[in-house]
Amino acid sequence: MPSRLKQFIRDIPNFPKDGILFKDITPLLKEPSALTHTILMMSHPFKDEKIDMIASVESRGFLFGVPMAHHLNVGFVPIRKPGKLPGKTIEESYDLEYGTDRLCIHEDSIKVGDRVVLVDDVLATGGTMNASIQLVQKLGAEIVGIAFLMELVFLNGRSKLNSDIPIHSLLSY
Ligand code: AMP
Repeated sequence: MPSRLKQFIRDIPNFPKDGILFKDITPLLKEPSALTHTILMMSHPFKDEKIDMIASVESRGFLFGVPMAHHLNVGFVPIRKPGKLPGKTIEESYDLEYGTDRLCIHEDSIKVGDRVVLVDDVLATGGTMNASIQLVQKLGAEIVGIAFLMELVFLNGRSKLNSDIPIHSLLSY
């Protein structure tokens, strides 16, 4: 039962700034059975799909994206903040509450037609995942689906994401 995992998500009020209720996944990461269960459940929707790659966003996305790639026996592609990836990159800007930020991906990491699953820990306002979608689509990938550990439904991040792409959130708040 995915909802049993909720006992391992800790709420931290006013982090990283006032007014934010931070969903802390560190209790889940340190509980072996909860971590294993999470990776299996997040991978489950894709077990019969033909996929080539998992792509996810630094840094908490990597904690789920890499083990999912291992479990599904596919490759992994990192999406990172500017200045972190050593090779040639393409980038995408996205809006934050105040100002903008950018995400980058290696331009040779994905081939035209590759079937990619995107992964992150939390869907909040959707800006981060929308920028990730734009990046992998610019490289010509076909997005098979998106997996989140949790979705903050009240922020309506889904409405920012292409409605043709299946979204799988293990937990909803
Ligand atoms: P957003 O672009 O607003 O959908 O935010 C998504 C990113 O911010 C994810 O990569 C999360 O790791 C992080 N994030 C946003 N809100 C929260 C929250 N309340 N608790 C934990 N992480 C969050």
